[in-house]
Amino acid sequence: MHILNPLKGFTTRIVHSDRQEAIEHGSLQKPVHATVAYGYGDARDLAAVFQGKQQGFTYGRQVNPTVDALQNKITRMEEGIATVCFGTGMAAIGTMLFALLRRGDHFVSSSFLFGNTNSLFNSFGTQGIDVSFVDATAVGAVRAAIRPETKLIFVETIANPVTQVAALEEIGALAREKGLVYVVDNTMTSPWLFLPKSVGASLIINSLTKYIGGHGNALGGAVTETGLFDWRSFGNLYDIYKQGDAQKWAIQQIRKKGLRDFGAALAPEAAHHIAVGAETLALRMERQCANAQALAEFLEAQSWVNKVYYPGLKSHPQHARADRLFRHPGALFSFELSYDVDLWGYLNSLRVVIKSSNLGDNRTLAIPVAHTIYHEMGAERRASMGIDDSLIRISVGIEEADDLIEDFAGAYATLRRS
Ligand SMILES: *Cc1c(COP(=O)(O)O)cnc(C)c1O
Repeated sequence: MHILNPLKGFTTRIVHSDRQEAIEHGSLQKPVHATVAYGYGDARDLAAVFQGKQQGFTYGRQVNPTVDALQNKITRMEEGIATVCFGTGMAAIGTMLFALLRRGDHFVSSSFLFGNTNSLFNSFGTQGIDVSFVDATAVGAVRAAIRPETKLIFVETIANPVTQVAALEEIGALAREKGLVYVVDNTMTSPWLFLPKSVGASLIINSLTKYIGGHGNALGGAVTETGLFDWRSFGNLYDIYKQGDAQKWAIQQIRKKGLRDFGAALAPEAAHHIAVGAETLALRMERQCANAQALAEFLEAQSWVNKVYYPGLKSHPQHARADRLFRHPGALFSFELSYDVDLWGYLNSLRVVIKSSNLGDNRTLAIPVAHTIYHEMGAERRASMGIDDSLIRISVGIEEADDLIEDFAGAYATLRRS
């Protein structure tokens, strides 16, 4: 039943992905295989699977058929060659770096980062793996930070919350020139808006919790191998994982050494939720991005709004880059109220929009960034990331645009009246 090749469209590929594997009873969805272990009739088969000589399942911390089906789906979405899933996006990032880097190594990271990634990278610093944070919206700072012991460059596509767009193409060319691993966190764009492989990424991160799962009902993360990096030139791989296709050496080490040793496995139930959510990724994001554009334009025109950060606005410093690289400029924006508008009063007057962390949900979510998700890092680092105390981040959902605009306008009107 291999019909995948004629199925070129993004959504066509996703919704017909599971039945490629000829599931019993003709099931259209990969069932939830709620099992930890797998029994073998012949002990020699069990041994062969352990030794990598035969395909098969061993123990739930490393492999599960439901998770495997999701991994295949993500590989197809990213047009990569292999994917490893994890229990969260953070587990994907942390395990990947731990599996690939060693004491004395150095990596260069964008300074515009998801807050927990920033925190994690600082911890790597205390463990003898050094990181330089640079402004990755231009390639010059990245180039200047490279040292002889640099192994890897890490960037996000659109940074959260101020929506800086990294110099993705130029950094890709630099990584290739210097023979460095290029890791792109595609969470904010998702493979529907952008394929990091197109700018030379070696490994792609996705927090499945966000747009891919899309419904705010399951945590998950993934690392996808694009096949572009020559791992034969990378010193940190163990001989045991340097078997078979060299394009897959690193992802093997991430799965076997990283996932197995750290154990941040994705649960089969969560994998099922995420796989169902992924079917509508393109449909949801079309609506979310259109809503984000409409809202950002509306807010930018209001006298009570100081500033709006959204790559879809002409006022955004990387507008042209976003326009060139991404199908749409994302579904997340941030804005600063005027100084005379009370932040808490405004937020508490919103009726449709929910005050909540998370992003990529079907529901529109608002959060005062400096006081919550970026509180722990302190005022100085916040200032260096361009995060003002009045900044509100909006993750735009799939509600009707008119309802959202009315809510944002109505909250200000309510506040004025009170
Ligand atoms: C949320 C997020 C992560 C972490 O994902 P979790 O699933 O919450 O662990 C990593 N990177 C980016 C850009 C994110 O938005």
